[in-house]
Amino acid sequence: MYKAIVIHKDEAGYRAGLETLDESALPEGDVTVKVDYSCLNYKDGLAITGKGPVVRRFPMVPGIDLAGSVVASEHPDFAVGDAVVLNGWGVGEVHPGGLAQLARLKGDWLIPLPAGITPRQAMAVGTAGYTAMLCVLGLEKAGVTPDQGEIVVTGAAGGVGSVAVAVLAKLGYTVVASTGRAEEADYLKGLGAAEIIDRKTLSEPGKPLARERWAGAVDTVGGHTLANVCASTKYLGTVTACGLAGGADLPATVMPFILRGVTLKGIDSVMAPRAARLEAWTRLGRDLDMAKLEMMVTEIGLEDAIDTAGRLIEGKVRGRTVVNVNP
Ligand code: NAP
Repeated sequence: MYKAIVIHKDEAGYRAGLETLDESALPEGDVTVKVDYSCLNYKDGLAITGKGPVVRRFPMVPGIDLAGSVVASEHPDFAVGDAVVLNGWGVGEVHPGGLAQLARLKGDWLIPLPAGITPRQAMAVGTAGYTAMLCVLGLEKAGVTPDQGEIVVTGAAGGVGSVAVAVLAKLGYTVVASTGRAEEADYLKGLGAAEIIDRKTLSEPGKPLARERWAGAVDTVGGHTLANVCASTKYLGTVTACGLAGGADLPATVMPFILRGVTLKGIDSVMAPRAARLEAWTRLGRDLDMAKLEMMVTEIGLEDAIDTAGRLIEGKVRGRTVVNVNP
């Protein structure tokens, strides 16, 4: 028997609760993992609250991330006792996920726990942190270097934003953190932000082209914020777009792209190929200060995940939430 958060959708409505399941409830898969830690991302918040169409099969165990150890394997790359991490691949959406004490998965989805990172730290990073690193890699590959000027990070006090601020600052970039929570200014400066701006300066409808300010950007918000960030990005700058916390629309013009050569680079973590994942995790091991990561973390138990998911979607949770599934 094992405990799991389970989401149901039926004539009684959409609801999530903590349940005790029999191992016969585990799905098909060639590797069974004893989960040590999971975490809460924005997508998990949408899944648990039902505020977004994330879950596509019911009943579903949410949790797009997990870290733990292999307890059974028919996969050639994994043996009993191996420490592993999983991010995405539809887990917690169409395949039962990490907010459980036990999970059965496809071994092809797993990566070995990176050297020097504990299971708890891996979940403090989670999809949010690994996506932040995909954004940083996107900027680097586009040729954005620290000497070119400021990088703006939107939704900075959230999970993706916090990790992006910390990693970019450690790499020597000058980071401007955009947040709706002025009270988190000291937190963001502690992570390495050079300046804090009020997210309202970016969230109202703006001009097709604004004063050139950013050499690059990590945007987790979308909507007018992303349009304004593009409009104020410098000649040949790059904007990485990974989120929709402020909206899924993009009310922009082509002006920044055709007059300033700005690149808008989309970032997806869910189906990212294995090589990109391994690169991102290797770089996280090198370029994310684990003491700064700890500053971002709130640890909760499985029983707290449902309440916290609601607060996360309201934008009230700072940094990263780690879920200890065996408190
Ligand atoms: P999170 O921890 O909830 O952070 C989101 C942050 O966005 C909030 O902390 C808040 O930051 C800001 N925000 C919230 N509501 C807003 C609004 N209405 N207008 C403007 N800003 C708002 O979530 P997360 O896990 O970091 O994820 C951030 C986004 O990235 C989500 O949209 C998520 O779906 C997306 N994401 C995408 C991928 C991918 O593969 N593309 C992977 C991971 C996450 P402040 O309080 O600082 O303003």
